[in-house]
Amino acid sequence: MRRTKIICTLGPATESAEVLRQLMLQGADVFRINMSHARHEWVRTIVPLIRSIATDVNRPVAVLMDTQGPAIRTGDLATNLQLMPGDILELTVRGARSEETYSVDVNYDGLINDISAGDTVLVDNGVIQMLVLEKRKNRIRCKVLTPGTLGSRRHINLPGVRVNLPPLTQKDMDDVRLGAELEVDFVALSFARQQSDVAELRRVMEMLGSKAQIVAKIEDQSAVAQIDEMIKSADVIMVARGDLGIECPMEELPIIQRRIVKQCLHFGKPVIVATHMLESMIENPVPTRAEITDVANAVFEQADAIMLSGETTIGRYPVRCVEVFDRVAKRIERSGGAGFARDTALHDSRQKTVAAAVKLANSLRTAKMIVFTRHGTMARYVSNTRPERAPIFAFTPFAHIYRQLALCWGVMPVLLHFTDNPNSTIEAAEEYLREAGLTEANDALVVLSDLRAGDCQIDSIQVRQARGVGQGQPCVDAPGEASMMD
Ligand code: PEP
Repeated sequence: MRRTKIICTLGPATESAEVLRQLMLQGADVFRINMSHARHEWVRTIVPLIRSIATDVNRPVAVLMDTQGPAIRTGDLATNLQLMPGDILELTVRGARSEETYSVDVNYDGLINDISAGDTVLVDNGVIQMLVLEKRKNRIRCKVLTPGTLGSRRHINLPGVRVNLPPLTQKDMDDVRLGAELEVDFVALSFARQQSDVAELRRVMEMLGSKAQIVAKIEDQSAVAQIDEMIKSADVIMVARGDLGIECPMEELPIIQRRIVKQCLHFGKPVIVATHMLESMIENPVPTRAEITDVANAVFEQADAIMLSGETTIGRYPVRCVEVFDRVAKRIERSGGAGFARDTALHDSRQKTVAAAVKLANSLRTAKMIVFTRHGTMARYVSNTRPERAPIFAFTPFAHIYRQLALCWGVMPVLLHFTDNPNSTIEAAEEYLREAGLTEANDALVVLSDLRAGDCQIDSIQVRQARGVGQGQPCVDAPGEASMMD
């Protein structure tokens, strides 16, 4: 079993039922829909298609809707501009007219207030670099520093500039409403800059009755500066290296990535490492050695998930990319991880119980962890403690928890009806694992559930011995009646 999860962004290269099936069979765990490009009719088709194929192949697969966020873009141009160092380009707002040879409108009027002379403006993934010389009424005069061709609607990054855009645009609101209707499992907030941005999305999602978890995309300096608060407020964190690598000095990126992964493990939040992991495979059937090393590094850091973007939206080898992720991840996981989970904060007695269970499992050669979870919390605690060898089988009666747990490191979610008799639920889980060939006779099963003791519920750890197929009644070590609460 691979423990690091795989996220594939969907696009023209991967939208067919056949390719989706191949991606799932190859090991894709989460499908990302990038709302910067996806149209609503397409989303309405692809989400049910993903769900039906996942049911068909019997795999837990989640859907992540990624909002466009408050992106600043250049406007339409009649013809592309060939810019050379030293050229002057004017950025205009509110439809202002420029007398310069080169000018382009910008979609954010407030830019004129946020920006100052001396700031850097990066256009089109940082390819065109410009220096702000001065502000005039509704015009920003910039000097071009690097050559490039400016086309229509190019993305603008402003490293270190505090932008006063709202966290959610009208388009984001419409998209989130669609996500709630289709019951997507995760909603990613692009350019999340501060805790209140996450709180705003949470408020909107609660209003819409969505059970989706919030992924805060860390992609600028202000989010990095308050990373602990961002981690605490979100359900999941994404190290969105595409924009982050433009907004921050590039040599800082590996340090920022490592710090974010470490802090996510400390605070017990799942973390995704994203973007450009196998970029050359958009065109080529094999990755570069440097890309393999980059993937290996994220797996070594024990990130919950690694993500493909262009590789699977427009790439020529989407299924092979998942195969490469799968191969590299499995190999690196066998060689051991960075061990950042040693520093996990254990705030309450449930987390301490989980840590004790994981310690117990680590001490047993053939241990398998079994956790019963209604909200996913206990399963996430186990995953966050990063057991050394034991797989984590998380049984839940709820489909959305089953799918959401697909993102968590080392967790194999299983849908199971919880009966009124907790012991028979545990036995049903054991039987499922036995029949699926996931446990063998005499494996040590470290079971995390609650015990009912009189009127109280208490967290319990049981060690059971797995039976082989056709063997007699199970041996229950723990007395009392177990229940399944979390
Ligand atoms: C990123 O910048 O790395 C990212 C994942 O965001 P997007 O693809 O939406 O630009």
